[in-house]
Amino acid sequence: MNERALDNPILTDRPGEACGVFGVSGEDIEAARLTYFGLFALQHRGQESAGISVSDGENITVYKDLGLVAQVFDETVLAGLPGSLAVGHTRYSTTGSNSWENSQPVFRHFGWNAIALAHNGNLTNTDALASQMGPLAATTDSELMTEAIAHAMTEDGLSLGDALARTLPQFQGAFTLCVMDNTTLVGVRDPHGFRPLCLGKLGDSWILSSETAALDILGADFVRQIAPGEMVVISQDGPQSSFPFEPTEPRLCIFEFVYFARPDSTLLGQTIHKARQRMGRSLADQAPVEADVTVPVPESGIPAAQGFSEASGIPYVDGLVKNRYVGRTFIQPAQAMRERGVRMKLNAMPGMIRDKRVVLVDDSIVRGSTTKQLVAIVREAGATEVHLRISSPPYRWPCFYGMDTGDRSTLLAADRSIDEIAETLDVDSLEYLELDNLIEATGANGDIFCTACLSGQYPTDIPIADGKFLLERLS
Ligand code: SF4
Repeated sequence: MNERALDNPILTDRPGEACGVFGVSGEDIEAARLTYFGLFALQHRGQESAGISVSDGENITVYKDLGLVAQVFDETVLAGLPGSLAVGHTRYSTTGSNSWENSQPVFRHFGWNAIALAHNGNLTNTDALASQMGPLAATTDSELMTEAIAHAMTEDGLSLGDALARTLPQFQGAFTLCVMDNTTLVGVRDPHGFRPLCLGKLGDSWILSSETAALDILGADFVRQIAPGEMVVISQDGPQSSFPFEPTEPRLCIFEFVYFARPDSTLLGQTIHKARQRMGRSLADQAPVEADVTVPVPESGIPAAQGFSEASGIPYVDGLVKNRYVGRTFIQPAQAMRERGVRMKLNAMPGMIRDKRVVLVDDSIVRGSTTKQLVAIVREAGATEVHLRISSPPYRWPCFYGMDTGDRSTLLAADRSIDEIAETLDVDSLEYLELDNLIEATGANGDIFCTACLSGQYPTDIPIADGKFLLERLS
C-alpha cells in the first residue's frame, strides 16, 4: 500500500490534491480508452488509485486499483473494458484511508441495473448520513452517496436522474460527481460548486471532466463549465440540464487557481497559468524587496516567480532543480537521511545563487517542513540572503471540502504571526499575497470563491471532529 503523502517528510508542504473525475458517452466509441487518456490528464488531482467503469449498454464492468493511471491500466486491461459509456476517477484520499475498497468508481449492482459513481470533494454531514444508513463495506462518503442513490432506484423505481434529484439535496459539503448506470451518464456539482466540472464534445460524444486540459488532450471541444448546483443528464438525446438544489452562493475553491488545477486548464474563462503569473506580479507590487535573483520553487512556484520577476525587474533564474520522479509512492528515507530528504526532490544549483540575494517564490505553505529545508539548501548553496514570497495568504484553517491538510495543529500559520513564521523558516523576510490581491489576480468577477482555509469563513456548517477516518471509527 502506498504511504500517505502527509506522513512523508519529503512531500509534506503540499496540500493533498482533490480527486479527478471524468465521464464519456457516445456511440460505437472505445469509452474506456478515452477515459484512460482523460484520467492521464487528471493524474495530478490524485495519485493513490485509479479506476474506470464502462457499460456496453447492458452491463457495467469496473476495473480499479491502487497506483497511478499508467500502473493500473494497460492494453490488456483496456481490451477487457468494452462499451461506449464510461466513468473514471483518480483518487487522493480525503475521507477514508488509501485502500482498494475505497478506490473509485464506487459500484452497486441491483438486478435490473447498476450504478458507478466517481466523486471529487468531501461531504460535511457524513456522520449524520452514516448513522441513518448502517454498516457499509467501505469507509468513504462516496460510498454513502452511492448507497442512497441505489436505494432510490431500487426501492422507488426511479431513473438515475430522478434518483439523483431526490437524494442529492440531503448531501452537504463538496461533491462534484460523474455517475452512470447501464445507459446514462450524469454530471453534478454541489450547490456551492466547490470543485469544477466541465462539459466537452468529441464528434458526437459528450465528455465530462474535472478540468479542460483533459478535453484538449483528447482533441475535444470545450462546451461550457457545469454551473454550481447543476445536474446534466446525458442520454441518447444528448445533455439535459436541471437544478435540483435550493440556490445558494457559489463557492469555487480558490486553491484550484493557486495550486490544484493544471496550468493549461481554464476556469471561469481564465487560463490558470496566466492567473498564477498575475499573482506573482501582484506580490511584487505588494511586497517589493531588494534582491539579485528570483528563484521559483519548482514546479508549483514557477508562474508566480515569472510574474514576480517581470514586475520587479529582478532576474528569474532556475536555482532549484526538481527530480520529477519523486511521487506519492516515494519510500520514506531511512532516519539517517531524513534531514537530506528534500534534496531527493529538490536540489540547488549553486552556480545560480552563490553570493546572491535570493527571492524564493512559491504558491503556498501548508506545514512548512519542506520549505524550511529548502531555505537551508538555498543558504548552503551560497545565497547571502533569502527572502520568501508566497503567492497566496497564510494557510491557517483546515479544509473540509476535499483537500487533505491534516488538522489545524499541523498548519504552520495556524497560530503564528508572519514574523514568527519567518523566524521558524529562517528567512530574512517573508510576505504572503493578500487575499484581495489573490482574488483580483484570478481575473474572476465577484464574490464567488471559498477562501475558508485562508480566512476562516466557512460557507457551510463544518464537522466538529476530524472527518477523514470518521467512517472507519464508526464501522
Ligand atoms: S477551504 Fe481552502 S482548500 Fe478547501 S475548498 Fe475552501 S478554499 Fe479550497
